[in-house]
Amino acid sequence: MNQRIVYNLTKFTTTDYVGHLSCVVWFIKCNFKCLYCYNDDLVYSKEGNYSLNECLEFLKTRVGLLDSVVLSGGEATIHDLIPFCSEIKKLGFKIKLDTNATNDKQIKELVQLNLIDYMAIDFKAPKNKFYEITKSYKYEQFLETIKYLIDIDFDFELRTTIHSSLLNEYDINEMIKVLESLGYKKPYYLQNYLQTPSNIGNIKEQSNFNKKEILSKNLDLQWRNF
Ligand code: SF4
Repeated sequence: MNQRIVYNLTKFTTTDYVGHLSCVVWFIKCNFKCLYCYNDDLVYSKEGNYSLNECLEFLKTRVGLLDSVVLSGGEATIHDLIPFCSEIKKLGFKIKLDTNATNDKQIKELVQLNLIDYMAIDFKAPKNKFYEITKSYKYEQFLETIKYLIDIDFDFELRTTIHSSLLNEYDINEMIKVLESLGYKKPYYLQNYLQTPSNIGNIKEQSNFNKKEILSKNLDLQWRNF
């Protein structure tokens, strides 16, 4: 765990894992290149600024002060998280994972080893737009992960970033149908795209998205920034 694969370490936050006092470990690299991604620095970094061992040294100084660690990025699961999470757990912290959920094998292993307490998962796009938005063909792996988590009733949330030039009302309704057909019952956050100084696709402000056209019988829809 001496490789420098961590871009940054946020030493304290109360907002990234709601109800918890956390730090955030920001991993470098990602297997996606989402058009609206504003973490391009992390995604394209070849080397980070910290090793996992250095993060653990920091965490040892926070025992009794923080209760949890958030793993984010970039995409944390393209790295081997099992030894790192095992050490975090030995220190007594809860772990939240932010993920695009395409490493279904590692996520299942982490869950089966009781190394993750909560996940926030991005549902990027319906199948027919998945590549266009993410530059990845891993829709089926994403689906496999969330089916598994629904089946075992794991504690997680799903969220979608909406830029109206990329996802329209029809697309969101199709994604809702997928989640309803899988029996997803937890919150589904629909978050409005916010313009940032830079992003991977160099995309600009969007036109209007009409949330009144979004239909759901059973899902717990939560709107953010609309
Ligand atoms: S927004 Fe997309 S490209 Fe950016 S870190 Fe998340 S999954 Fe990777």
